Amino acid sequence: MLSHKQDLRGTDLSSAHHALTYGSRYTREPVPKYVMPVQGLPAEVAYRVIHDELNLDGNPSLNLATFVTTWMDDHAGRLMAETLSKNYIDQDEYPQTTEIQNYCVNMLARLFNAPEGEGGEAVGTGTVGSSEAIHLAGLAMKWRWRKRREVLKMDAGKPNLVMGANVQVVWEKFARYFEVEPRYVKLTKDRYVIGVEEAMAMVDENTIGVVGILGSTYTGEYEPIEALNDALEELNVKKGWEVPLHVDAASGGFVVPFTQPQLRWDFRLKWVKSINVSGHKYGLVYPGVGWVVWRDKAELPEDLVFHVNYLGGDQPTFNLNFSKGASQVLGQYYNFLFLGMDGYRAVMTSLHGIAERITSAVEGMGRFWMLSKLGHLPVVAFALNDDVMKKYGYTVFDLSEKLRERGWIVPAYTMAPDAEGIALLRVVVRESMSRDMADLFVADLQRAVEHFEHEKSQHSKQEEKRKGPQTRGVC
Ligand SMILES: *Cc1c(COP(=O)(O)O)cnc(C)c1O
Repeated sequence: MLSHKQDLRGTDLSSAHHALTYGSRYTREPVPKYVMPVQGLPAEVAYRVIHDELNLDGNPSLNLATFVTTWMDDHAGRLMAETLSKNYIDQDEYPQTTEIQNYCVNMLARLFNAPEGEGGEAVGTGTVGSSEAIHLAGLAMKWRWRKRREVLKMDAGKPNLVMGANVQVVWEKFARYFEVEPRYVKLTKDRYVIGVEEAMAMVDENTIGVVGILGSTYTGEYEPIEALNDALEELNVKKGWEVPLHVDAASGGFVVPFTQPQLRWDFRLKWVKSINVSGHKYGLVYPGVGWVVWRDKAELPEDLVFHVNYLGGDQPTFNLNFSKGASQVLGQYYNFLFLGMDGYRAVMTSLHGIAERITSAVEGMGRFWMLSKLGHLPVVAFALNDDVMKKYGYTVFDLSEKLRERGWIVPAYTMAPDAEGIALLRVVVRESMSRDMADLFVADLQRAVEHFEHEKSQHSKQEEKRKGPQTRGVC
C-alpha cells in the first residue's frame, strides 16, 4: 500500500484541478490580473477565485449607505436569471418583453396621476437607472426650450437649469455633458433643500426647467414641489414663459404614492411635465432599472426619438445606450404583479416604522441631533452635538469607521454647499432591514459611542496620573 506521501508524489497536480480547487497549483500561483491568460483556468477554479476575492467586499445586507435594492424573493430571482440572455433593445425579437416594459410605463404614469384622455397621453421609457432617466428628461427640457426660443426668433445659446445645491451628482453631469448652465440654490445652516423664493429669483427666459427632488439624497427630505409649482405658475403667467418643473423622484416616487397619496407632487400639478424614478431603489428591483415618464407626448420632442430597422420592424428608441439586459424590467413587472398597491404600501409603511424606531433610539442616546424628518423618506440622518465632539474629540467619521468593524456600512459625509460645515451619518432603511436588524444596529452604535468616550476618559485619567498630583489644580 502506498503511504500518503507517496500517493501525493504520484499525483500530477497540474491536472488535478478538476477534483481539487484549493489543492491545485492555481492556489499557489498568481492569478492573472492585468494580462489576459493565454490558457484559461478551469471553470470551477475561475469561479472560486472570483467568488473568494469578492468576500473582501462589504456585505450588501449591512450596507446602510445605499438606496439600492439588495434583496428580492426567490421567484423574482428565478425569473430574472431565466431572462439574463434577453436584450431589452431587441423589440422585434422579444415583442412581449417590450410589451411588458410598456405595461410598467402605463402603471407608473397612472401611479403618478398623469392626465388621461383629453388632458394628455403620457409616454415614458425604461432606463438603466434614474441617471439615464434624468439625462433624457433634461434633454427633452432643453429641446423644448430651444424650440420655443427659435419660434420667438430669440437667442437659444445660453440655457440654464435651476435646482438645489443638494441635487444628486447626475444633475451636475447632465449640466456639464449637455452644456447647460447649472444654477444652484444654496443651502443654509437650517435649510437642506431648495428654497422656493431663492429658486424663482434664479429663473429667467433661458431657464429650461426647475428641478424638485422627492427625497433629497442627503437627508431624505421632500422638497416643496407643490410650492415650486405654484410659484412657477405665477412667474410663467406674469412673464409669459413656459418654464417646466421636473421631479426627481428617484427614491420618493415609489414611497409617497403608497404612504401619502394625498401629497401633491406629481402630474396633478400643472407644471410637472416629467418625472424620473429608480426601479432599483424603493421600486425594489436589483440594480439597474429606472423610469422616466412625461405627462404628455407633446413634452417629448419627436426629433429626440430615433427609429431604426436593423432588427426588423420599426423600432422607436429614446435611450442613451442601445443594448442592455431585459431582466430588470421583468423583475419590475414581477414586483408590480406580486406586490400590487397593497404590498408596496405594506413594505413602505413598515420601513417608516423602522426609521421611526431608529430615530427615537438615536435621539435617546443624547449625543446626536437629527437632520432627517419623520414622514419623509425612511432615512435616518444625524449629526453629533458640538459639545460631545468638543468634550470627547470624536466625529461621525470615527463612528462610521468603528461601525465598519462590525460589518455595518454607514456613510459619514458633509452637507452640500453652503451647509458643508455639518458632518452627518445616514442610515437608509430598506426592505431587507427588519426590526431585529435595526435593534442590532442601534446597539452597535451605542457601543461605538461608548468606545470613544471610554477611551477618552481612560486617556484623561492616565494623563492625570502622569502629571502627578501637584499639577492637578492647574488643569
Ligand atoms: C439615486 C438618485 C439619483 C441617481 O439614480 P440612479 O438610479 O442611481 O442612477 C438621482 N437623484 C436622486 C435624488 C437619487 O436619490
